[in-house]
Amino acid sequence: MKVHQGPLLYEGKAKRIFQTDHPEQVVLEFKDDATAFNALKHSILQGKGVLNCQISAHIFECLEKNNVSTHYLGLAGNNSMVGQKIDVIPLEIVIRNIATGSLCKQTPIVSEKELDPPLLDIYYKDDNLGDPLLTEARLKLLGLITDRQREEIEEIARKVNSILLEFFQTIDLTLVDFKLEMGFNNSGKILVADEISPDTCRLWDQRLNDPEKRILDKDRFRKNLGGVVEGYEEILKRIQGASGKPSNAVSDC
Ligand code: UDP
Repeated sequence: MKVHQGPLLYEGKAKRIFQTDHPEQVVLEFKDDATAFNALKHSILQGKGVLNCQISAHIFECLEKNNVSTHYLGLAGNNSMVGQKIDVIPLEIVIRNIATGSLCKQTPIVSEKELDPPLLDIYYKDDNLGDPLLTEARLKLLGLITDRQREEIEEIARKVNSILLEFFQTIDLTLVDFKLEMGFNNSGKILVADEISPDTCRLWDQRLNDPEKRILDKDRFRKNLGGVVEGYEEILKRIQGASGKPSNAVSDC
């Protein structure tokens, strides 16, 4: 989609957001920067921006087809997309289907335990505070969202999980966990925003049993496993292969 890219509005760790000539639209440019552990670890991974942009675009299209409202409007270039301008809600909604990562560091829950129903955790998005996990009472105290909006956010996140679990299953990938961000558009509607990519999801290759080789997401970077870009490329390749196939009944991706 053609848009006029205006001045830089904001630069984050993985993306730059630009104004456009349309007051309600922004351009999101995906950078090659990789960061982990609250930006203590940083590298440039050539090609990562394009891969995350293309993967995110496909996932947003898939969600829209399944009646989940997102900020995504279309691709602007290989590593950039047009999104609705939103007021970001400073919360990170994490859904976990399999226990790993911080859940296993912070609790005695054993790694790889299947979580049924999936666990939904809400974190306060603030790097200076280290993105703390919130309790329901603390979330209420913060006053960022009403109880009704919290219910809606959780409902959206669980719906995204069932659509994506099923979609990734069709391409032999296990959606272990992922993070969502949401925001309000100019009519106050809650939209799924930011990105959904191997930077923000854990995806395991079901065609491989080796617990390190099967990792295709940012854990390759976090754990110094190498082959980060190759992992992301494999995900995009399978997604592109899937879009040629006839859609299945539930998740029309
Ligand atoms: N995640 C993310 N951004 C964050 C924290 C987590 O995208 O700031 C994603 C992460 O990639 C994983 C899921 O959320 O898919 C759960 O992450 P976890 O809480 O286990 O944290 P981690 O172990 O990555 O520190």
